[in-house]
Amino acid sequence: MSNKFLLSSPLFYNMHVSLRSFKQKARYRRQKFVRFLSKLRKLSPSNLDDLAVSIDKQVWDEVDCKTCANCCKTMSPTYTGKDIRRISTFLNMSAKDFKSKWLLKDKEGDWLNRSTPCQFLNMKTNRCNIYEVRPVDCIGFPHITKKKMVDYIHVHQQNVDKCPATFKMVEQMMLLVHKKQ
Ligand code: SF4
Ligand code: SF4
Repeated sequence: MSNKFLLSSPLFYNMHVSLRSFKQKARYRRQKFVRFLSKLRKLSPSNLDDLAVSIDKQVWDEVDCKTCANCCKTMSPTYTGKDIRRISTFLNMSAKDFKSKWLLKDKEGDWLNRSTPCQFLNMKTNRCNIYEVRPVDCIGFPHITKKKMVDYIHVHQQNVDKCPATFKMVEQMMLLVHKKQ
C-alpha cells in the first residue's frame, strides 16, 4: 500500500476501519457512486467480472472486517433452509425454536433476523459467535466477486454507504473504468 493512498484515504488507515469517518464520506459520495453503478449496469462491459476480481485483493488488503462489523450491526443475512438446520443443530435447538426465537419471514418469503445488531455478534470483539456455521450469505458478503457482477449491482447500490469494502470496490472500479475511457 503506497503512502499516497494512506494520505488520501484516512478512513482506511492501516486496514483499520473508522466507521465514523466512513459514514461521513459515504454520505457525501453515495449518490455519485449509485449513479456510477447504474451506468455500469447499462454499459455492462464484457470484462466486468474480471475487473471485480482484480479489485477484490486490493480491497481486502485495505479493509479489515474485524475492525468494522457494520454489516452484522446494521443488516440481516438471508438464512437458507440449510443455514437454519446447520446453525440450530450447532446450538442444540430445533429449527422451529431457532426460527421462533430469532427469525422472521419477510414479504418475499426470506428468513431474516428479527432485529439488529445480529444476535450472534459479539459487540465487544466484533467476532461472530457462530463463525464456523454462519449463513452462506455472511460468508460471501459483500459479494464483490459474485458472478455475474452485473446482476449484483443493485446489492452494491444498497451497501455502498454501509459496507466500507463495497465503498472501496466502487471507488476503485470508477478509477479503472474512467482510465479506460
Ligand atoms: S463486509 Fe463490509 S460491512 Fe461487513 S465487516 Fe467487512 S467491511 Fe464491514
Ligand atoms: S451470523 Fe455472524 S457473520 Fe452473520 S450477521 Fe450474524 S454475527 Fe455477522
